[in-house]
Parts: sequence; C-alpha cells; structure tokens
Amino acid sequence: MEDCIFCKIVRKEVPAEIVYEDEHVVAFKDIKPVAPVHILVIPRKHIPDLTAITEDDVELMGRLHQAVVKVAEKMGVAEKGFRLVNNCKEEGGQVIYHLHFHLIGGRKFKER
Ligand code: 5GP
Repeated sequence: MEDCIFCKIVRKEVPAEIVYEDEHVVAFKDIKPVAPVHILVIPRKHIPDLTAITEDDVELMGRLHQAVVKVAEKMGVAEKGFRLVNNCKEEGGQVIYHLHFHLIGGRKFKER
C-alpha cells in the first residue's frame, strides 16, 4: 500500500472528481486547473516518475495514452486539440511523485 496522495485517490480514500477509470487508469480533475479542462491521467500502479517505467510498463503506457484520448473525447477537447504534459522530477517541476499526465485544453496555447 503506497502512502501517496494519488494512490489514495485511486483507492478512493481521498475524494477527487473522477472523470474516467478503467482497469489500469484513473483520470480526475486537477485541484488547481490552469485551463477550462485540466485532467490528471494516472496509472493505478504506483510509478514514481516517467524515468521509472520498465519493460513491464510498455503496454500500460499505451493504455494510458488510449485513456487520454477517451478522456479528451469525453471532455469535448479531442476535436480542437489539447496539450498533454508530464513534469518529470525536480527540474521538470514535478510535485507529486506518482506518474501523471496533465491533459489541458479548452483554450488556445501558444505555439513554441
Ligand atoms: P506536478 O507538478 O507533479 O506535475 O503536478 C501535480 C498536480 O497535481 C498539480 O497540478 C496539482 O494541482 C495537482 N494536485 C495536487 N494534489 C492534488 C489533490 O489532492 N487532488 C487533485 N485533484 N489534484 C491535486
């Protein structure tokens, strides 16, 4: 049992606005949204950050990205588009050490 806030959300010990879940993935609204749509898409499995994925997680990562698309469709941003962000470790700005992708949309982002 991981003592991690996102694991607690997965186990429904901490409330969150869950918008999608399946056998492998849970997606819920970010508590401090930076756009009209801001969803965190996470594996149920506790993986601390993107560098910690292993060969065993290859299928899971594919499922996670499939889930991102399902969530984007459900939230109404799949057609116009969205941004998918992973903050990795300290210099990447990661705060919660349970792998997650920010699905952000509903407004136009600057091109880079
Ligand atoms: P990071 O910087 O690690 O990529 O982003 C963590 C994100 O998790 C932040 O956008 C933050 O607002 C969100 N967050 C942190 N704690 C909670 C929580 O308890 N519930 C929800 N729904 N979001 C959280």
